[in-house]
Amino acid sequence: MNQHSHTLTRTMPQAALAPYSSDPQKLLEDVFGYQSFRGQQARIVDSVVAGKHALVLMPTGGGKSLCFQIPALARAGTAVVISPLIALMRDQVEALTHNGVAAAVLNSSLDSATQRETEAAFFDGQLDLLYIAPERLLRESTLRMLEGTPLALFAIDEAHCVSQWGHDFRPEYLKLGVLGERFPTVPRIALTATADERTRAEIRRCLLPADAETFIDSFDRPNIRYQIGLKNRPRDQLLEFIKADHRNHSGIVYCFSRKKTEQTAAFLSSHGLRALPYHAGLSDQERRTHQDRFIREDGLIICATIAFGMGIDKPDVRFVAHLDLPKSMEAYYQETGRAGRDGLPADAWMVYSLADIMQIRQLLEQSGASDGQKRLERERLEALLAYCEHASCRRPALLDYFDEAYEGECGNCDNCLKPPTTWDATEAARKVLSCVYRTGQRFGAGHLVDVLLGKSTDRIARFGHDELSVFGIGVEHDKATWHSVVRQLLALGHLKPDPEGHGGMMLGDDCRDLLRGEMSLTLRADLRPKQRRGSRSTSRKSRDDIPSDSPSWEALREWRTAAAGEQGVPPYVIFHDATLAAIVEAQPESMDELAEISGVGQHKLKRYGELVLNVLASVEESKAESAESSSG
Ligand code: ADP
Ligand code: ZN
Repeated sequence: MNQHSHTLTRTMPQAALAPYSSDPQKLLEDVFGYQSFRGQQARIVDSVVAGKHALVLMPTGGGKSLCFQIPALARAGTAVVISPLIALMRDQVEALTHNGVAAAVLNSSLDSATQRETEAAFFDGQLDLLYIAPERLLRESTLRMLEGTPLALFAIDEAHCVSQWGHDFRPEYLKLGVLGERFPTVPRIALTATADERTRAEIRRCLLPADAETFIDSFDRPNIRYQIGLKNRPRDQLLEFIKADHRNHSGIVYCFSRKKTEQTAAFLSSHGLRALPYHAGLSDQERRTHQDRFIREDGLIICATIAFGMGIDKPDVRFVAHLDLPKSMEAYYQETGRAGRDGLPADAWMVYSLADIMQIRQLLEQSGASDGQKRLERERLEALLAYCEHASCRRPALLDYFDEAYEGECGNCDNCLKPPTTWDATEAARKVLSCVYRTGQRFGAGHLVDVLLGKSTDRIARFGHDELSVFGIGVEHDKATWHSVVRQLLALGHLKPDPEGHGGMMLGDDCRDLLRGEMSLTLRADLRPKQRRGSRSTSRKSRDDIPSDSPSWEALREWRTAAAGEQGVPPYVIFHDATLAAIVEAQPESMDELAEISGVGQHKLKRYGELVLNVLASVEESKAESAESSSG
């Protein structure tokens, strides 16, 4: 028997017992155990419950699922959810089942007996939600099946898959327009975390009627702390970061190459952390196992190429680290967005270097893309690099890229916590540009800096660069400062790598104004990468939402791991970290008190309430015992 049929047998009998309220607030409290709607949720839910169509744009972790799950329960009939990924469907069905909701899935991973069972349950009106893969939905037999039964709504998840410009294009999504023709009276709600205008317009055109309302939530992720530093000894920097703030936490480390994911995982493992690689070169079996372990175990680190993460709904990823640059702002936002879906504090951490910029720019230039495409990619990369070098609060800079205004400073990024100093680098920049020009636009940073500093090296003698007017004109700054200037000029597009890929620098297309003195330039002074532990622990004070050193926290996590193992579900399906943390904080002593806690719905209360209270009681007992034995 496979997992899905387990889900079904657990689900079916409850459906008949659960006639749901049509009041969204009551459903939120009773079924999901939450006190209040977030952001736009309430407005969206009301609109869909009233039978209207909607486009929902919310960031990852914003709470899209409730926007259709609550109307699914409030409205008569079964809600049909279209989702492109089997893993996503399975996760949501597991989570719903755990809240006592009758949900099932139809996709190609099921055996035919399970399929028939699910279809029968659907025909019987026993299902509150039915998740279907798009190709399955589009079969004539499925459409007919749906026509024969009352439907609450259609939810089209990951609706950006309809966009041919995006990375996740799914041709079947283009055909979902058929829903409007065949089911004109059933409300459709399309949801995505991709916000750009072009994708938005495509979703509206292909998937929704003209009168659909658009709801846009802020794309800010306030619980994510953004930190970007200079690469020095990257693996040691990573290790220090994890050991200081993320012992026993789940995290993702993104690396550029397959080899590097393996080396990094081995390195972390050799230092006592649990880490596994994930990349396209592993066998399907290995990839599945590693991904599964990441989802099901607490505190595992995955070192991955970007192939990892899509379709993973794990809410308690506490950090996302980049050992190499992502290729655009969109990619950065998406990859870092996999941290902290549960709303608890999480880190987006990155280190990068001049060499990284050279490498990624060269790859871009040498790719087979058309000139227009290359220009677009170059602009995207430059936006990211400018963001990296940004000297004030990162949040407005990040959100501005998605056309969202952010007022003030966030207090939760590296630049807010430890403001970098800036300096007027106009003169220094012009010296670098002249040096690049005078030496013939083919030398790398090391040589250029030697020339500026007036060093007597073999290369300088060989090329006669000690005769140039730029020789020795930069003695007022040290080597590190000059490297920093070169890196930032490259990041800002005032310099570019030579197309041959030998590491040489050429004048960038944007450097004219600077050379002519028509523009001034402020750059950030590099922080020398050093131990930052001291400053760190103070800045962490406000982030004590995770009570990692409390005995009841440890005990509840152990209990949860065991319970999840028994049932073959990920621990967060039982209770999220946020819920456990709230329990630790509140120390409830009765079922009523426990019911008040966010994330404890009625179904989970019945199923786990006593167990949780027992765990808390036994922690109290052993505390009392040890106090007695130490005093007696
Ligand atoms: P998305 O699909 O937008 O990435 P999810 O629907 O998975 O986000 O929700 C992210 C997390 O936030 C989930 O753990 C969910 O249970 C939780 N959540 C959603 N809405 C609320 C709410 N109103 N109150 C508390 N938690 C919520
Ligand atoms: Zn900030």
